[in-house]
Amino acid sequence: MTAIPQERRVVTAIPGPKSVELQARRASVVAAGVGSVLPVFTARAGGGIIEDVDGNRLIDFGSGIAVTSVGASAEAVVRRASAQLAEFTHTCFMVTPYEGYVEVAEALAELTPGDHAKKSALFNSGAEAVENAVKIARAYTKRQAVVVFDHGYHGRTNLTMALTSKNMPYKQGFGPFAPEVYRVPVAYGYRWPTGAENAGAEASAQAIDQISKQIGAENVAAIIIEPLLGEGGFIEPAKGFLPAIARFAKDNGIVFVADEIQSGFCRTGQWFACEDEGVVPDLITTAKGIAGGLPLAAVTGRAEIMDAPHAGGLGGTYGGNPVACAGALGAIETMRELDLNARARRIEEVMKGRLTAMAEKFDLIGDIRGRGAMIAIELVEDRETKKPAAAATAALAKACHAEGLLVLTCGTYGNVLRFLPPLVIGEDLLNEGLDIIERAFEGL
Ligand SMILES: *Cc1c(COP(=O)(O)O)cnc(C)c1O
Repeated sequence: MTAIPQERRVVTAIPGPKSVELQARRASVVAAGVGSVLPVFTARAGGGIIEDVDGNRLIDFGSGIAVTSVGASAEAVVRRASAQLAEFTHTCFMVTPYEGYVEVAEALAELTPGDHAKKSALFNSGAEAVENAVKIARAYTKRQAVVVFDHGYHGRTNLTMALTSKNMPYKQGFGPFAPEVYRVPVAYGYRWPTGAENAGAEASAQAIDQISKQIGAENVAAIIIEPLLGEGGFIEPAKGFLPAIARFAKDNGIVFVADEIQSGFCRTGQWFACEDEGVVPDLITTAKGIAGGLPLAAVTGRAEIMDAPHAGGLGGTYGGNPVACAGALGAIETMRELDLNARARRIEEVMKGRLTAMAEKFDLIGDIRGRGAMIAIELVEDRETKKPAAAATAALAKACHAEGLLVLTCGTYGNVLRFLPPLVIGEDLLNEGLDIIERAFEGL
């Protein structure tokens, strides 16, 4: 429920005069290292619309980077968070606890894959959740090495920078990075040298061989992977890859961690993307979509692993803030009531249908991929050489922005247009957004 009309409206240049003025103020006081995809300043947001301070209404294909899956002002999130805000804002769960935190942990135990006993710890950001997953896995295994994958993204703190694959903009100049982090190949079907059909088997064999020969499986605490890689380009590991890696972890006493921070909570048309191939992770990290826009993150997993760190070893002042927990309970309520998994699958159907038709007209589209409302197109200068078309990708995004459609780019080569609409977006807005993308291709 939102007061914002679910209609695109462009009444000024984008960004408009008020946004330009605010951008000038911002430039003198906000650190330059903090960027913005599109410097239009937000006045209100909800459903599939972001309204800016100049009165423009943009169609939202970004969800604040896969966060506002239930919309940016979902009724249940606003209701529950407001009620909590009026009761108390904070006590620190490590000082005097409260029920909301426990309720979120109960929901996580129920919703995450596997019917084993599960426990959770709550944090503020995705990076913090990933860091804690590493702490927990090291405490449990008494080993140190951590294995991650090409094109992986896990955050911007020191340890998670080390876990992240891409140098610019995430790591450049920010080293030295944390030790005992090892990167191995992922089954990137579109760019796998012997073809997508071989990628699952070959990449998993290569990854396992590297782990065994270069690190020694007995030294590995955790293997961390995004079941559908986000910032790296919406790469779906080819079929067979995830189960093979999960099996290898199990056989060798390694904690298998699914980083579902971007792909979790209905985004891919299932509660968690790892369900697609029936993989049951030992630990799962969540954030982004979990709380309807409030800052919350979690590590959830096998009770005996989660209980390995000593009392007092995990936590943080704000981790599992009561208002954020109330927001999460509101978001989960919305996901259930509106069956947002079904909505995400419908968004996939509409998007892939339209994008497939576009690919027949525009040779620039090399690959269409993703699941649910986590869909991307990879753009190439030439379908044979697959040379990444980064400049065209940036130009397309810019053209969409000018028409009032917010889209994001991603990918190791900067040549992926990604679409992450709120799952509650109306189908008319979804189609209008796709019309704008089509016109942007025509105008290139
Ligand atoms: C965004 C993201 C993170 C980092 O989350 P923050 O809340 O920005 O710290 C980690 N892993 C994945 C897969 C992400 O998409």
